[in-house]
Amino acid sequence: MKIIMLGAPGAGKGTQAQMIASEKGIPHISTGDIFRANIKEGTDLGKEAKTYMDQGKLVPDELTVRILLDRVAKDDCKNGYVLDGFPRTIPQANVLDEELAKLNDHVDFAINVDVPDENIISRMSGRRACPKCGATYHVKHVPPKKEGICDKCGSELVLRDDDKPETVKKRLGVYHEQTQPLIEYYTGKGILRTVDGTVDPKDVYAAINEILAEV
Ligand code: AMP
Repeated sequence: MKIIMLGAPGAGKGTQAQMIASEKGIPHISTGDIFRANIKEGTDLGKEAKTYMDQGKLVPDELTVRILLDRVAKDDCKNGYVLDGFPRTIPQANVLDEELAKLNDHVDFAINVDVPDENIISRMSGRRACPKCGATYHVKHVPPKKEGICDKCGSELVLRDDDKPETVKKRLGVYHEQTQPLIEYYTGKGILRTVDGTVDPKDVYAAINEILAEV
């Protein structure tokens, strides 16, 4: 099953993507995590991506599409995947559809985790991420077992630079301008499903599970 998670930054799509992926036994692919891993390793790709990410801008389509297509071509993606943070623009969605069509394949669902802007900024300031393994938490909604420490790998959690309030405001603007049109795009394809992202993450997940049972 191939699933796309849509939603504003901070809507909780990463948390839901992780839950779906572990339940279904398919990889959770976050382009943001791939960029961050490259930044950490100091690769050329990381250096280029960082200049955009630090400003709350999108990394150019060409670069983003290349890393995504490389990733989904790997063996562990044979039975599907959950994409978190890709596509973020109409051209990215077009490339994904074209590449899948070549393989006689398609995206099954685009799940829009809907959260109004006014909830997003206060939410993001509570977000914490593991710089080592990429796991994400929220101090209130998805706390780690031990405060400030990653459940999965024991590293110290951080507030990412791009989750800071000034960057979040910029990212919301970019989301409305460049990513929101994807809602219409996937509605047109008949695969968009919207869930209320303001409720408890477990209830968001239950709503998503009902949708996935449609297949
Ligand atoms: P995320 O972790 O998904 O919120 O992504 C963090 C940042 O990485 C974004 O603000 C963008 O700068 C960049 N990024 C991640 N995914 C994409 C994408 N599909 N297209 C362009 N930029 C992206």
